[in-house]
Amino acid sequence: MSALQPVRGTRDLIGEELRQHRHVIDTARRIAELWGFDEWATPILEDTRVFTRSLGDTSDVVTKEMYTFLDRGGDSVTLRPENTAGVCRALVSNGLTQALPQKVFYAGPMFRYERPQKGRYRQFHQIGIETLGAAEALADAEIIACGQAILDALGVAKDTVLEVNTLGDKQSRDAYRSALVAFLSRHEERLSPESRARLHRNPLRVLDSKEAEDRAIVADAPDIFAHLTEAARAHWEALLKWLAVFGVPYRVNPRIVRGLDYYSHTAFEFVTDRLGAQGTVMAGGRYDGLVEEMGGPHTPSVGWAAGVERLAMLADSPPPPAAPIAVIPVGEVVEAEAVRVLVGLRRAGIRAEMAFRGTLKRRMERANRIAARAAVILGEDEVARGVAQVKDLRSGEQAEVPLAALPERLRTA
Ligand code: ATP
Ligand code: MG
Repeated sequence: MSALQPVRGTRDLIGEELRQHRHVIDTARRIAELWGFDEWATPILEDTRVFTRSLGDTSDVVTKEMYTFLDRGGDSVTLRPENTAGVCRALVSNGLTQALPQKVFYAGPMFRYERPQKGRYRQFHQIGIETLGAAEALADAEIIACGQAILDALGVAKDTVLEVNTLGDKQSRDAYRSALVAFLSRHEERLSPESRARLHRNPLRVLDSKEAEDRAIVADAPDIFAHLTEAARAHWEALLKWLAVFGVPYRVNPRIVRGLDYYSHTAFEFVTDRLGAQGTVMAGGRYDGLVEEMGGPHTPSVGWAAGVERLAMLADSPPPPAAPIAVIPVGEVVEAEAVRVLVGLRRAGIRAEMAFRGTLKRRMERANRIAARAAVILGEDEVARGVAQVKDLRSGEQAEVPLAALPERLRTA
């Protein structure tokens, strides 16, 4: 029979790769907890409307990337492409809209039907934080500063730049959209086909097009700052003030618009030049209307999501797992005693391994292969005397140790 392969764009995480992946998630979880975020785990499978109501009909995710299907009961369900909509749905479903603010951390798999390439998969993983129910720019700044702290803890901050922008409130954005459409229309015939299609449906998205012909035009496009209402400008200025207070360096980039339709006011990305075209490692912004879309009250909120695979490629490596002890019985008659020693070590919190079979020579080879720090060798003579030979596999030194004293002797390297 032919060997089966993982589904295109999905990957197995094994050994070192999974350890690196876990390191990213564990570090983020630890820092997020320090900053007051509480972990939520929402289902991977959601009612399709959770996403169609929130992400916007024109977003790439909804139009091209969702894994949507009818389940056996005929309901339309979707493998979540992101977790912000699910968190907002959960806030409402769990009756938490009167217990605000809620500061949420999450981590888990997301699914998007995209063209797979380095740093871009169909099943990928995100970590993220959300502050639900806070309209203050201080909440935006805290979200960003916590992201920066996580990047710092992973050793990634030195390779990333924070780019911030404002999308204003609805009034600012409507005014800006008209100005932008007027400008882009004058260059319509030189835009890429995709941007031409977006020009009237979702003109802001033209700003973050990756096509060379669009970028040249967009470079001269008007920015939103001239169109901000007083309230939108106040929010933006307060954000920059608070970022300075948190000590977070930033660069203003008026081209940051984000791909999902739910953002207003703050939009930001932490970008790197170390991952080729997949340069955005962490991205987010303010979404004041999303909880309402889920049937809840008006709940101003802000958050970000980051790709675990992209962070794992940039992050420092975690310390390797502790080197194990190899327990080595010499002859079948002492195997049972060796297993008792093995269990005693493990119970004492010491990582220990014993092969299922093999001669002394084979077992010593295996001890070296698993990079054991010491071998505990038990022959008939040793067992009769209640001792074991302990061989330090780094120095080669050997000593006789009473069985009862083994955990104590082997606790530290
Ligand atoms: P991109 O412009 O790279 O497609 P996006 O705007 O679609 O990103 P978001 O929806 O904001 O990304 O998701 C936040 C982060 O999740 C991204 O910055 C990236 O690190 C990661 N991410 C998004 N899509 C993928 C994917 N298909 N594979 C791996 N990581 C991804
Ligand atoms: Mg995308």
